[in-house]
Amino acid sequence: MTTVHAESAATGDTAARDTFDSLDPATDEVVGTYPINTAEDVTAAVERARTAAAWWAGLGFDGRAERLRRWKGVLTRRSAQLAELVHAETGKPHGDAMLEIVLAIDHAAWVARNARKVLGRKRRSPGLLMANHAATVEFQPLGVVGVIGPWNYPVFTPMGSILYALAAGNTVVFKPSEYTPGVGAWLAESLAEVVPEHPVLQVVTGFGETGAALCRSGVDKIAFTGSAATGRKIMAACAETLTPVLIEAGGKDALLVDQDADLAAAADAAVWGGMSNAGQTCVGVERVYVHEKVYDEFVAKVVDIAGSVRAGDDPDADIGPITMPGQLAIIRRHIADALARGGRALLGGEDAVGERFARPTVLVDVPEDSAAVREETFGPTLTIARVRDMDEAVDKANATRYGLGATVFAKARAMELASRLRSGMTAVNSVISFAGIPSLPFGGMGDSGFGRIHGPEGLKEFARPKAIARQRLRAPLTLTTFSRTAKTDATLAKLITLLHGRRS
Ligand code: NAD
Repeated sequence: MTTVHAESAATGDTAARDTFDSLDPATDEVVGTYPINTAEDVTAAVERARTAAAWWAGLGFDGRAERLRRWKGVLTRRSAQLAELVHAETGKPHGDAMLEIVLAIDHAAWVARNARKVLGRKRRSPGLLMANHAATVEFQPLGVVGVIGPWNYPVFTPMGSILYALAAGNTVVFKPSEYTPGVGAWLAESLAEVVPEHPVLQVVTGFGETGAALCRSGVDKIAFTGSAATGRKIMAACAETLTPVLIEAGGKDALLVDQDADLAAAADAAVWGGMSNAGQTCVGVERVYVHEKVYDEFVAKVVDIAGSVRAGDDPDADIGPITMPGQLAIIRRHIADALARGGRALLGGEDAVGERFARPTVLVDVPEDSAAVREETFGPTLTIARVRDMDEAVDKANATRYGLGATVFAKARAMELASRLRSGMTAVNSVISFAGIPSLPFGGMGDSGFGRIHGPEGLKEFARPKAIARQRLRAPLTLTTFSRTAKTDATLAKLITLLHGRRS
């Protein structure tokens, strides 16, 4: 038996190796050892999930809600233990780990409360022509959903798919990131405590090959969260079996600051949005566009606040290590490229990126076509640009292949600017707030992906609409019969002219 580490095997050949270690990114200590599940293992898990799916669907909305509420209780009571594991595998501070767990718990409560309301059978108007019918729609489970997750929010992110898929009546086979397999296994074990009868949530562990096997395993949908590059591979693999996909990929989110904004709040939000979790947040702030009238004051505030954000592994550190060692080179490259092309680092710089940790970096005067403005950096860096007015800010913010989240700090024009931003979600006068409102859909456009988790849209993503038209009375005009007469056709023509034939 050979054991490999996530970093070396993420790019290398994993054939003939059957376990891997998850490591503490601050110390390289082994946190846990997990199997590299093969395609056969994945197929077997999906088969078990299929049997479990019939039972789970049979529990109905109320039966499932009751189990999901009990799971929510387990998650809440053992949240400190889960946060410790998240801290060990990702390096993020314990408090930040708690924050993502709390949000996931709130989503659990929401799906338990709302699945029936959103997905249960509802009447639709049959229209005048078909007035003798009762028309209904109900949202039925897909069957088995494959969830492939990232490491940066190993609880909150996959739970956005897992909870919604389960509440809609599906069972789930989950492939967590190779950096956070322990968190994935913990989640499945904790659900099994309150649903011991059948494996409604199973975890398969391993690298990209295990994820690819899940795409080809015959699941009814894949919900993927990760990079756009992997998203493309997932779609290609799923195309072979016409398996539908939901893609939650990366972002290059912008924060806009208008001249009438609360600058202290905006600066605080820019620093937290850009640098919490060491900048490793899909909806993290990466670029800031500021009205020229308040630019200098805003920049000074940001540099002041960011200057006190400390990276480290001790309990008082504000940000932890960069979880994926390979990301350090990308962060360094973005900073170096920005500086080489005329940008200035008002805080940090190339030296701020070390062997494990990256300190905050604030860049200004960075050309809009440089990597630091165009590509996802995923580090504690911000680029800040001065704009003439907010129309220029919107144009620049929207000039990206990505379209995930966005933030606006403004008063008079706040809602107008928010809706003009090309993003799936926009927070106004706060940052990332949309992720904590379970009733709001979450997802992106362009290279940030498609489909939605969270909210009613997130429940419907894991269900198929079933339409039923039931004839209640015999129709005065029977249209769907070979015994239809010329008189019926003439009456129908008159009726349709009456209903729809007016010129305006
Ligand atoms: P990644 O794309 O490297 O990996 C994500 C998952 O895909 C992992 O479980 C990985 O093992 C698996 N995988 C890799 N190759 C595969 C293949 N060929 N077939 C099937 N599965 C495969 O992403 P990551 O580094 O874990 O996560 C960081 C990225 O995720 C960032 O781009 C971030 O912005 C994005 N993200 C997006 C959201 C969102 O909701 N939109 C949330 C969190 C993170």
